[in-house]
Amino acid sequence: MSTCLLILGRQGSGKGTQSLMLAEKFGFVHISTGDLLREAVESSSPLGLKAKQIMDAGELVSDEIMCEILAERIAQPDVKSNGVLLDGFPRTTAQAEALGAIVGKVDGVMNLDVPIEEVTQRMLTRNRDDDTEESIARRLALYEEQTAPLLGWYEEHSKVVTIDGIGTEEEVFNRLATALETITGSLVS
Ligand code: AMP
Repeated sequence: MSTCLLILGRQGSGKGTQSLMLAEKFGFVHISTGDLLREAVESSSPLGLKAKQIMDAGELVSDEIMCEILAERIAQPDVKSNGVLLDGFPRTTAQAEALGAIVGKVDGVMNLDVPIEEVTQRMLTRNRDDDTEESIARRLALYEEQTAPLLGWYEEHSKVVTIDGIGTEEEVFNRLATALETITGSLVS
């Protein structure tokens, strides 16, 4: 398996936009499980119909479904030849374990840090369908409960870099790019 990098961060931290730009700059394939689910919702596939309610409520789609979606996408040849930057996966220990079984080792993790008060404000003003006050609070609670503990786990197995996500899009992008260079540089040397 080629390079596998992760970006972790609360919803509203800007990791979607930033990881897309980073993947483009460094030539990695960008996989966002949120985007894959939104495409399924858009096309009204059976998965999409099931996922929509869960997403609107701010809950997590089951590990079983998510691991299947991820495994299918990560098996595509573009991932093998370019490496991958995962955005929104893993979100639970079970997903992290499933990912480990697929890729062997995660090479690096970028932790995009934006405080809860700030991401709440950002989400309340972004006007996305699934952004009600309740669903935002629920998603942030689930992040603390299920996803944040993964950082400690990865610290033992991979390189984890925490990046301050407060600032302009460009400032944060430059910090992330430097972090990514540190991670990939240490892979080469
Ligand atoms: P995102 O665009 O990453 O914020 O994801 C939007 C929504 O999709 C989340 O609130 C979850 O309901 C669902 N979702 C995306 N990725 C995952 C995942 N890895 N595990 C469970 N649910 C997910």
